Amino acid sequence: MKAVCWQGTNKVEVETVPDPKIINPRDAIVKITSTAICGSDLHLYNGYNPTMKPGDILGHEFMGEIVELGSAFKNGNIHNKGKALAIGDRVVVPFTISCGSCFFCNRDLWSLCDNSNPNAWLAEKIMGHSPSGLFGYSHLTGGYAGGQAEYARVPFADVGLFKIPDGLADEQVLFFTDIFPTGYMAAENCDIQPGDTVAIWGCGPVGQFAIRSALMLGAGRVIAIDRVPERLQMASSGGAEVLNYEEIEVGEALKEMTGGLGPDSVMDAVGMEAHGMGLEGFYDKAKQAVRMETDRPNVLRQAIVACRKGGTVSVPGVYTGFVDKMPMGAFMNKGLTMKTGQTHVHRYLQTLLDHVQNGDIDPSFVITHTLPLEQAPHGYEIFKDKKDNCIKVVLKPGQTA
Ligand code: NAD
Ligand code: ZN
Repeated sequence: MKAVCWQGTNKVEVETVPDPKIINPRDAIVKITSTAICGSDLHLYNGYNPTMKPGDILGHEFMGEIVELGSAFKNGNIHNKGKALAIGDRVVVPFTISCGSCFFCNRDLWSLCDNSNPNAWLAEKIMGHSPSGLFGYSHLTGGYAGGQAEYARVPFADVGLFKIPDGLADEQVLFFTDIFPTGYMAAENCDIQPGDTVAIWGCGPVGQFAIRSALMLGAGRVIAIDRVPERLQMASSGGAEVLNYEEIEVGEALKEMTGGLGPDSVMDAVGMEAHGMGLEGFYDKAKQAVRMETDRPNVLRQAIVACRKGGTVSVPGVYTGFVDKMPMGAFMNKGLTMKTGQTHVHRYLQTLLDHVQNGDIDPSFVITHTLPLEQAPHGYEIFKDKKDNCIKVVLKPGQTA
């Protein structure tokens, strides 16, 4: 089959690789119809994850058709939250791999599954404990082949696969795999009270879904921050007031817009590759270059300082290692709460499907580019460099240019 393989920093190639095979009784093989490139993939593309190996298949936002099932599913039917699944069904695949029966899965904490990361020992060395396995996301989280490919093996298929009802296009449901639940969980993590003001840094795909989710969850105002004009424009169409951080001092602006109080909650939807302004930006770039810090927390610092006293800091943005100069004094003395994590995708699937079927939101709004899988290298390039007004790229295996 054809698959998008990581070959080093800033280098992906579409290669012919062996088809995936059933390894465990609870596996399924999915023939992929749509798959997307995520901001998280950029961290790998940009070379910030030391546990990538040349040839690793990328991708964790994919959906398609079940073409093969493991021997655990004897009658060809598997059961998922009361729904029978069978060969030929159209499904979306959460990016987090979860067993469905461990301490964490039983507590609805799917991205913390204890049984799905075969390289848990490696994560434990760095983090003390391991998160769940993730598709296409380095050997630290299992080394699983990803879904920017024609086929993928899905472990614990009875827990992960989510059947899509007829009548919905791929583009309306593809983002259930990651960015829609990620934006939604990040908004939920803001503990929004009716009428609250939420400030969101980052108007990438995750920020876009966070904006709309915060409003769905009762925020009175969302203030979105970025510097890319078309992303700010899309944020504004989604109901946010917008700030361009290159044109305005964000902390001062937020104070002014909230009568001095500060936003009730703040969200870092940017993560470890935040762009920093002035001396501070230079400081983080320099420290990262000599590996004295792994991640650049420019946004996190700003968000903590901007948040109102007693407020909540929600962090969907990905961090992998260590950050410097955290304003812990502000965090402690203002009595803030922080909530973060890889998304518990399984938790939100039915809720988000209901929202789409009720017509509350059409997730396809975020797509700016649809390309055949073969053009993935071009897709990575324009998404990284924000060329050609690129906001979200969907790749289509089996389609030609
Ligand atoms: P993206 O790279 O498309 O978007 C990031 C945006 O942040 C860009 O528009 C960029 O201009 C903006 N930005 C950079 N520096 C900024 C600053 N100082 N102030 C304000 N904006 C700034 O990525 P995305 O797909 O939207 O993902 C965003 C983050 O969410 C990434 O870190 C990604 O890894 C993470 N993510 C987390 C989860 C999860 O489960 N927690 C899932 C998906 C993605
Ligand atoms: Zn993603």
